[in-house]
Amino acid sequence: MADQLDAYRHKRDFARTPEPAGEVAADGAGRRFVVQRHRASRLHYDLRFEIDGVLVSWAVPKGPTLDPAARRLAVHVEDHPVEYLHFEGVIPSGEYGGGDVIVWDTGTWEPVHTADPGAAVRSGELHAEVHGEKLHGRLVLVRRGEGEEWMLLHKHDAHAVDGWDPEDHPRSVLSGRTNEEVEADPDRLWRSDAPAAEASVSLLPEPLPDAAIDALGALGHQGTWEVFGRRVKVTNLDKVLFGGDPPITKRELLAYTARIAPYALPYLEGRPLNMHRYPDGADGKGFWHKQRPEHAPEWLRCWENPDADEGETTAYVVPDEPAALVWVANFGALEWHPWTSRAEAPHEPTYALVDLDPGERTSWDELLVLARLHRTALEHLGVAARPKVTGRRGIQVWIPLVAGYTFDDTRAWVEKLSRTVGKVVPELVSWKWEVKARRGLARLDYTQNAINKTLVAPYSPRPAAGAPVSVPIGWDELDDPDLRPDRWTIRTVLDRLADRGDPFRALLGAAQELPEIN
Ligand code: MN
Repeated sequence: MADQLDAYRHKRDFARTPEPAGEVAADGAGRRFVVQRHRASRLHYDLRFEIDGVLVSWAVPKGPTLDPAARRLAVHVEDHPVEYLHFEGVIPSGEYGGGDVIVWDTGTWEPVHTADPGAAVRSGELHAEVHGEKLHGRLVLVRRGEGEEWMLLHKHDAHAVDGWDPEDHPRSVLSGRTNEEVEADPDRLWRSDAPAAEASVSLLPEPLPDAAIDALGALGHQGTWEVFGRRVKVTNLDKVLFGGDPPITKRELLAYTARIAPYALPYLEGRPLNMHRYPDGADGKGFWHKQRPEHAPEWLRCWENPDADEGETTAYVVPDEPAALVWVANFGALEWHPWTSRAEAPHEPTYALVDLDPGERTSWDELLVLARLHRTALEHLGVAARPKVTGRRGIQVWIPLVAGYTFDDTRAWVEKLSRTVGKVVPELVSWKWEVKARRGLARLDYTQNAINKTLVAPYSPRPAAGAPVSVPIGWDELDDPDLRPDRWTIRTVLDRLADRGDPFRALLGAAQELPEIN
């Protein structure tokens, strides 16, 4: 039995698998089953029976059925750990099984004609009476020949239904969602590089308690705010930072920052931060501040840049906890610009970025044309990516990467992608470096793929009236007639998150290689 999970383990990339994965449960008493609808490189259904403490599994391309006339191919695949039983969410692309998974059906089962279903599987024939929400009655699995190919059928019994097709019943029995809906806003991520007990990771941030916002409201013009377990000194709380009706004070900015921090942090943690400070508000003068100030609190993580030359920034703030972002906002940073790389590997970008930068003459519709062409190109290449509106005029596309690329690699790849797109609409695009020479046309800016060059973080405010926010969107939203680059503000984006979730969450943990562009 100890070897039952070996095949599963072997499918892993051991370079990214530091710890043993999956313990075989001891009692073996479970009689549960699950069918997961899994969109990986190909759509299939995974039929899994709990036997001897593991999930004995078959991949069924056309899915199980109640139709007694159907004979379905079922490929016997590696056992999965029982922790996977009710997993619903995403598996990072680039990992084994990368894609999205829903619990299409689940329930209990009994083996028929045997008390030892493990032996039945080894002998090549398993009869199972299943009690699911969709599947009922007698399923039979029979091995064909010597390989891993089996046949799955449903007996002519009281539960049989002629012509029954699983694709007519596409929703999860756990959440009621389709694969598409789970992919757009997943609740969980399966980290196949972690031990089985820790592999299912929640993607839902812990929201800030309302009491913390009340405490901020109760402070005078300044004070110490207890937030996320830290004591953060907050100042000038009634200073107006953005125009608006009513105008937006620093207190409101800090309240927004604390509320959004659990959502924004996954895109900031572990990364040096370039702070765009506007101490006199969005109408005042802004400047870049990169050096961690002497007065920063002890708990704020700092990273010393080993490559810093004379006169360059030596120590950066790394916002590794939500309170750090509150400190950053209190410091007057209205915009948060994390590095594309992490502090541990500053020369290895974890995203490739496409910056669709409109010129003075570029209309919003023309920018959408450019964004949709990038969508088409990325779909054609099979590359997972998501767009985001900048909160000003632009759109960016973020493409998650496996470790090991250099900025030279990502810059060259994005240049190739964007030049290919640009050839389709040469009348909209300029490749000139000088703004004046661009004649008001859009720039497809691949040069942002460089160390210490940054784009604004997801959910960062922008220094403009009303405090617009840079917001990740789904590809389908490019076709929404109400979409605008500055559609959401610090007063509206939390409602959007509650309605629609965070489309960038599907990118977290993705480990993707960039295909050749010809
Ligand atoms: Mn599968």
